[in-house]
Amino acid sequence: HLPKIALVGRPNVGKSTLFNRLIRANRAITHDRPGVTRDRMEGQVRSRGKQTFAIVDTGGITLDAHAAVAQGPEGIRGFEAEILRQAEAAMAEAAGICLVVDGRDGLTPFDEHLAAHLRRAGKPVLVVVNKVDGVEREDEMLAEFHALGFPLLPVSAAHGHNVRVLEDEMREML
Ligand code: GDP
Ligand code: MG
Repeated sequence: HLPKIALVGRPNVGKSTLFNRLIRANRAITHDRPGVTRDRMEGQVRSRGKQTFAIVDTGGITLDAHAAVAQGPEGIRGFEAEILRQAEAAMAEAAGICLVVDGRDGLTPFDEHLAAHLRRAGKPVLVVVNKVDGVEREDEMLAEFHALGFPLLPVSAAHGHNVRVLEDEMREML
């Protein structure tokens, strides 16, 4: 069995886009519609001369964020509970965890909620601040995420910025 790194985070932060970048294939499905991804897709990250490892994308094709929101607070709570359940399952079998957040949205209460769970998991955690597409506002976009108390790495899954650095940081967590 290959050691695993889990990608966790709220819907639409870019977990699946990042997953696809990392495995350089299209084994995870990305959509513009939030929350539509298969539950726990797994892929391998291979680079010449470096350790191969597995990454797990969480998200759940069974989850429909729009339907949950339409159901009101009850639906949203159920939806968040399901994300948390999937994240916990992935976390349990992972050597390290990447908490993916959206640098354009900024820090949200649900990010803080997930971070609190990760702190208790006692495994290495890296906060991956995605959608940092240009370098000019990088420090500003990162600033509020320091409050989570984990190391941070800005990336752009869409443009590939820092994705190789992320790979190496992931290997450090194995
Ligand atoms: P997931 O729900 O966390 O798996 O998120 P997805 O990978 O499905 O991406 C959600 C949306 O964010 C899609 O519209 C992506 O095209 C977009 N997205 C992902 N990564 C980036 C990025 O680095 N920059 C920008 N601007 N958009 C991104
Ligand atoms: Mg996804």
